[in-house]
Amino acid sequence: MTKQEAAIIMAYTGTTLLTGEDFSIFHKYIEEKLERPVWTHEFADKAVWKQIKEASKEDFINLCKSLKNETNAQWEFVHYDPDYLVFSGTCTACKKKHESTDNVGKLPFCPHCGAQMNGEKMPVLIISGEEEQ
Ligand SMILES: [Zn+2]
Repeated sequence: MTKQEAAIIMAYTGTTLLTGEDFSIFHKYIEEKLERPVWTHEFADKAVWKQIKEASKEDFINLCKSLKNETNAQWEFVHYDPDYLVFSGTCTACKKKHESTDNVGKLPFCPHCGAQMNGEKMPVLIISGEEEQ
């Protein structure tokens, strides 16, 4: 979750997620939503919190809609067949094989199960025939 997203959840639920220096991210967000300067002491006012909740409702709902499955899925054994110009790899989440003329290992998500692929653990691209030379 980003700090900006935490500010939205904090505004809508009233649960303190950002403290210390990060509180300013929340404060700035509130001022943008209420379109006016907000004094720190106003955060103790229930009527102000009601306005904050109302003003952040749309952002909160949009945030909930954008939720994705967090997985450690990755493409296993991404293979390239130079004869057919086809890349293939297996999704570690659903174990299904995916073939494409584009580099499967670069796909950010699995087209079968929708798992988000962990880009930082990109498997090494193996090109057929190299081992035989
Ligand atoms: Zn999958």
